[in-house]
Amino acid sequence: IWGQACAKLEKTVGPNNFNHWIKPLRLIAVEDGVASFDSPTRFISDWVNRHFASDIMVELSRFGSAVERLRFDIGAARPTPVAANESRPQPARPQSGRHSRGMTARPDLGAPLDPRFTFSNFVVGKPNELAHAAARRVAEGGPVGFNPLFLYGGVGLGKTHLMHAIAHDYQTRHPAAEVLYLSAEQFMYRFVQALRESTIMDFKGMFRNVNMLMVDDVQFIAGKDSTQEEFFHTFNALVDQGKQIVISADRAPAEIKGLEERIKSRLSCGLIVDLHPTTYELRLGILQSKTEVFRAQHPDLEMGAGVLEFLAHRITTNVRVLEGALQRLFAHASLLRREITLDVAQECLADILRTNDRKISIDDIQRKVAEHYNIRLADMMGPKRVRTVARPRQIAMYLSKQLTSRSLPEIGRRFGGRDHTTIMHGVRKIEELASTDHALAEDIALLKRLLEA
Ligand code: ADP
Ligand code: MG
Repeated sequence: IWGQACAKLEKTVGPNNFNHWIKPLRLIAVEDGVASFDSPTRFISDWVNRHFASDIMVELSRFGSAVERLRFDIGAARPTPVAANESRPQPARPQSGRHSRGMTARPDLGAPLDPRFTFSNFVVGKPNELAHAAARRVAEGGPVGFNPLFLYGGVGLGKTHLMHAIAHDYQTRHPAAEVLYLSAEQFMYRFVQALRESTIMDFKGMFRNVNMLMVDDVQFIAGKDSTQEEFFHTFNALVDQGKQIVISADRAPAEIKGLEERIKSRLSCGLIVDLHPTTYELRLGILQSKTEVFRAQHPDLEMGAGVLEFLAHRITTNVRVLEGALQRLFAHASLLRREITLDVAQECLADILRTNDRKISIDDIQRKVAEHYNIRLADMMGPKRVRTVARPRQIAMYLSKQLTSRSLPEIGRRFGGRDHTTIMHGVRKIEELASTDHALAEDIALLKRLLEA
């Protein structure tokens, strides 16, 4: 079945991605809905898991028994070379290094781009409209761009998707340009490798010859001094030449601990935009769009009324999980040739729904908030009314209302026996403040993220 699935997968993910990421895998077994693979490296399996897991599940389910999860063993077989170093006969178009200027057998620098991460597949809503607009502008490559463009936001909110979309679009507009996309982890890996193999001059040269450099998840190099040093020089050299840089991270530059000040200040010369946590409307929009795409290939898909709304309502943490859930439903539907009703969805996604509901307790919230604002836990319940204590307390009330299913009187009891109207007042106050005070809204988003992690 792996052979059949592979033939399909090659079409869905594109030959390049397929050769690079999926081909190195070996299917060992499918048992109880779990497909086990042998993967040469952790890097490959992580990548596959993040980008192609749902496609693999759909295809395996189509040709064999239902697969609802993938498992990877690393390097159980004879170790194969790291895929990123394999010389591929046809590198992805938007990759650097095709004109290797006489260098022999140089490793490809970038990571391949996911063909599905395009602007047309990106659903725009309030939480991401600014990031999307900035990305569009940068992709146009006009003279009044933003350089560097720094995108940040929580896991699964679309940073990587937007970066790939910029690369695709820019490359279409500027076919001769060299666009290089890679993760900060890969940057470090290449750098260390160049040091080891004494090819550091080649390394520098290759990076400095690109027209657009995109480094994903840059928080990874925080605290890694020599990598940062090199990154900083590369970065400066490119910006000075007017080359575009796009960077992503899971938080704002100022909040990345262990990132050098000069890098932070250089970053703030460009544009910094964040992707906010998704709203119900955006989640529903994304689900509808993905369902349309799937239905185009599988016209027989029957999705019951209210299923997408249910998912958008219940799976709130991250778009990747949301997508995974949807893909699992598709796999289920195409295998059993059965309509996806609400009941089927609930049963089929029980585990995802359960972890998404993982109970956050008022205790957790009070502790985290107290820690964050550096006040005593006892002050959460205590009577103090000074702003420095009262405000964090209200934030904790607000989060308790938002993240738990406790009623206002119950919450009141946990805050030192306060009345439910006091809680209501606190919740409203924070809602009101957060709608205008950007710093507060960010603080709350960060706390939520920490609590939901
Ligand atoms: P991040 O890099 O921020 O962790 P990704 O870009 O990898 O997140 O996004 C996770 C998944 O969610 C991807 O499959 C991506 O296509 C999808 N996704 C996120 N935001 C959107 C959106 N606005 N529209 C469509 N798909 C989205
Ligand atoms: Mg990412």
